[in-house]
Amino acid sequence: MSERIPATNIPVQTVAPAHNAEPIVTKSFRGRYRNLRIAGGGLLFGLYFVTVWLSWDGRQAVLWDISQRQFHIFGATFWPQDLTLLTGGLVICAFGLFFITVLAGRIWCGYSCPQSMWTWLFLWVEQFSEGDRNQRLKLDRAPWGVTKLWRRGQKHVLWLLISVATGLTFVGYFTPIRPLVSELVALEAGAMSLFWLFFFTAATYLNAGWLREKVCLHMCPYGRFQSVMLDDDSVVISYDAGRGDPRGHRRRELAPAEAGLGDCIDCQQCVQVCPTGIDIRDGLQMECIGCAACIDVCDSVMDKMGYRRGLIRYASQRQLSGGPLRLWRPRLLAYAAVLTAMVVALAWGVATRDLIGLEVAKDRSLFRYNAAGQVENSYRLKLLNKASEPRTLLLSVSGAEALTVNGQTRVRLAAGESRELAWAVALAPEQLHRVSSELVFSAIDAEQSGQHASRVSRVSRFTGPPGS
Ligand code: SF4
Ligand code: SF4
Repeated sequence: MSERIPATNIPVQTVAPAHNAEPIVTKSFRGRYRNLRIAGGGLLFGLYFVTVWLSWDGRQAVLWDISQRQFHIFGATFWPQDLTLLTGGLVICAFGLFFITVLAGRIWCGYSCPQSMWTWLFLWVEQFSEGDRNQRLKLDRAPWGVTKLWRRGQKHVLWLLISVATGLTFVGYFTPIRPLVSELVALEAGAMSLFWLFFFTAATYLNAGWLREKVCLHMCPYGRFQSVMLDDDSVVISYDAGRGDPRGHRRRELAPAEAGLGDCIDCQQCVQVCPTGIDIRDGLQMECIGCAACIDVCDSVMDKMGYRRGLIRYASQRQLSGGPLRLWRPRLLAYAAVLTAMVVALAWGVATRDLIGLEVAKDRSLFRYNAAGQVENSYRLKLLNKASEPRTLLLSVSGAEALTVNGQTRVRLAAGESRELAWAVALAPEQLHRVSSELVFSAIDAEQSGQHASRVSRVSRFTGPPGS
């Protein structure tokens, strides 16, 4: 078994001015990992903002309808009874995160986490409105005037617009978005919709505009787990100390060997671009969110110096010590096998889930005699059509000879409709062989036939008089 990498908790360093209370002002940079994040982020933003407007079968394609307790996703409808499937999906996501962390560190944080993606978007707006790092530091120090008011105002207006769009979209996944927008335009939106719209707008504005890396450093537990999950073969963002040290400034025309130095020119650019304000050269730290900004900027420094790229790069501890890259070790293979099994089980569960819901509740009264002298028990049958089209259900009960049913046995339900039926089941006293016996209630789709017909069964008890 590989050894765990100790992820140190080095106090966060900020870049000029350097103390923890000061906000981190990052420098802009270019590079291939930045391009990758922009491409991936663009796709994720597109999915988030566009999906909510898609329709399917005349209904919003993705909608968590809280009032109806239904989750619609592209023609499929899930009900509270399908909670185990949702739980399974969440467990798979959590396990997938473990898997990807063991494989490649915090790439989820760097490339897909909503907190990171919105923070990068807000940072881009800040740079657009106020300029690069030095201009922003200068603007910070400048007295309030027209220029400062204009630049700051522009930034906050853009942040607010993005926040409103984010909040509205989020609420739109829980309340149909087209009617919601119409109500907002007509100033007729309900108090609940307005509250959640305000809440998610404020949350976006505060988290991405003001709190930023503090959410990652102090609120998100994921960074704390990484030292447990990473091992010597995890591919993480690393500074190659063997190649970079001793660090120091030198004239460009001087080769590192001639200057008696390593490849790191100690330009501090990797610190200046870091959104959490750390120095990756101090080793793997809990504060590192794996954004690869330091790789991009250091590569550009290496290019300028005419050195080989990759002084900071994705590498395992084993590789940095001169060993081979070992991606598929037993631990990761075991994780992959478990993850695959869970995904297959969930897919099977979704594909074969019951589209008929049936619950049977026996009345509290034990039994009674009906007019024909039979022993009778009462039940409430709750039926649900989970399909997106109407269904006719045939109801039956079995478990004893010569059962008679007083209640509806053929029911037509609209798509998504639920209905409650009162049933009385009666048995002749001579058919009763014990005080309590088992009955099986079934609902079957009348429009299907044979063994492939959708059917659901529930077990309940039939109670007779003492001495039966
Ligand atoms: S950007 Fe590269 S060269 Fe500059 S200080 Fe960081 S590691 Fe050294
Ligand atoms: S150390 Fe590098 S990868 Fe980690 S958060 Fe800072 S810039 Fe991003």
